[in-house]
Amino acid sequence: MLTAEGWQQHMALHVDASGLITEASPAASASDRAISLDVVVPGMINAHSHAFQHGLLGRTQRFLRPEDDFWSWRSVMYEAAGNLTPASQEAIAFQAFSEMVASGYTTVCEFHYTHGATRRDHGELPVLMSEAVLRAAERAGIRIRLLPVCYQRAGFGRSSLLPEQRSFGLDTDVYLGVIEHLRTESHLSPLQTIGYAPHSLRAVDLDTLQAISDHRNDTAPEAPIHIHVAEQAREVNECMLSTGKRPVEWLLDAMNPDSSWCLIHATHMTDGERRSIARSKATVCLCPTTEGDLGDGFFPLADFVSESGAWAIGSDSNVCVHPAEELRMLDWQQRLHQRKRNAFRFDGSLAASTRLYQMALNGGRAASMLPVGRLEAGCAADLVELDSASMTQEGLSPDEILSAWVYSGSQSLLKRVMTAGKTRFERA
Ligand SMILES: [Zn+2]
Repeated sequence: MLTAEGWQQHMALHVDASGLITEASPAASASDRAISLDVVVPGMINAHSHAFQHGLLGRTQRFLRPEDDFWSWRSVMYEAAGNLTPASQEAIAFQAFSEMVASGYTTVCEFHYTHGATRRDHGELPVLMSEAVLRAAERAGIRIRLLPVCYQRAGFGRSSLLPEQRSFGLDTDVYLGVIEHLRTESHLSPLQTIGYAPHSLRAVDLDTLQAISDHRNDTAPEAPIHIHVAEQAREVNECMLSTGKRPVEWLLDAMNPDSSWCLIHATHMTDGERRSIARSKATVCLCPTTEGDLGDGFFPLADFVSESGAWAIGSDSNVCVHPAEELRMLDWQQRLHQRKRNAFRFDGSLAASTRLYQMALNGGRAASMLPVGRLEAGCAADLVELDSASMTQEGLSPDEILSAWVYSGSQSLLKRVMTAGKTRFERA
């Protein structure tokens, strides 16, 4: 079993009725009701997802112009977003969340901005759209930190949304009202919590950002704030033109983010910005399969790790739903860039897969602000069991089995996924 201290052999987990681990101890006898499994790792936290974009699967890979990029992809995405109803939102989200569970994600931070096309001024439809996502998560058996999104303008210096962004828009009062309603009236299950998500610096102004941060500090200090930042070079240029500062630089100066903040992407930074984020203790969420699909750019992860920066992974557009593939791509980006294998300068005590998996767990735990990502007393019994018997090679250590899963991606290795001590996926 993978613990914060490394691999421990023959461990059993004692779990209470709410799905929390009460004790992790040496393997119990057969008569004991503790969970005793094969090679076990904590379930991964998916720190950034837009579940509805799973509905675009396979529809965005035929290019019409040589200059097709993130911004042209976004037009296709807007079309899908504009047509969503609570029913279709729930159906697509259920599909995405079920795939997440079947690939080893046990928590999702759902960055949810499809609030519905009409009556958004009353806050009624946005609540129904959010509840549809919560229901989908409940049915799929995934733990969720739902992050309703505040999205108010089309870009820096603009005062309104584009017509195709209409379904995303909520005034600040309505937005905070939706958050409060979800927290107090929506009968959240133990696997459901709410957080905050100002969409990006281009989509909200400083007053809104401040109002959201104040609301969180005053009413829900246990909830995180997530925001997209510096995903695209064009966004960096527009921010500089509008504010005189780069986005990460501006955010750090204006909001002084701490460990309760999660900065999504942070792709385009100076060395100084990168070091400042590491010092701030904010988590950066990297979504390498989506960033690769959209041609965003590389995050300097090896440098960030050497500065003890906190990072998590996310499936973002859900073009790919698999934690192992995100980790593999992150490592291989760095290896290709540096043209060497040990891009992170790890010592040889554990495989690179185990190191990266543990870092992503720690970052996901911080980004979600939930007791997840560790198999120890007081944490959720959210775990993944890998099937050593499915390997053709015999005698592999747990470290090597996790490596086979991360770097070779064999789906047959994933045997069982549990959240709150209950099996949610099991390979037949
Ligand atoms: Zn995103």
